[in-house]
Amino acid sequence: MVTATGIAYANPVADALHRDLDNVLWERCGGETTGGPAYAEKLHPQRQRTTMEQLLCAGCKAPAARDERGMAWVLPLLDNAPDTVWEGVRTAIPPLCGACADRVPRLCPRLREGHVELRVREAEQIGVRGTLHPSPGEQGPPDPDVLVMYDSPDLPFVVARQVVRELRLTTVVAFTAART
Ligand SMILES: [Zn+2]
Repeated sequence: MVTATGIAYANPVADALHRDLDNVLWERCGGETTGGPAYAEKLHPQRQRTTMEQLLCAGCKAPAARDERGMAWVLPLLDNAPDTVWEGVRTAIPPLCGACADRVPRLCPRLREGHVELRVREAEQIGVRGTLHPSPGEQGPPDPDVLVMYDSPDLPFVVARQVVRELRLTTVVAFTAART
């Protein structure tokens, strides 16, 4: 339900259970969190949130790989364009451990279409992706996939699905173009 102060589940217990420390409301999700999804679009929401908040590997929940250049992140190329600027890129894809960084790009169809391997020194949690509901007095249907920053006035009206981080102080380790 939507009130003047924000969106909430009608059941107060369910509501409390689905809020995080930033008071963001999260989607209720069923299903299993096991299995081997490798890519954020297919990642179970609970697994995305856990791995992204705690900087664990998206593939196996081990600690993400780190070296002096930072943490390992493998992202799909946007439009297969290797000249994309990766500094400051915002992503809902969690980092990877060393073993998964080697393995996952071969298994994930999206990454097989081209990917970049980054090392990232700073990955601040900046907001959430989710469904943004119109506040009272606003017209129109909910917007199903919006990035809402933690400092946005829209934050009380979003039902979150994914944690988003902004990757800074990035080093590009490798590009892999699409296989033809
Ligand atoms: Zn892993």
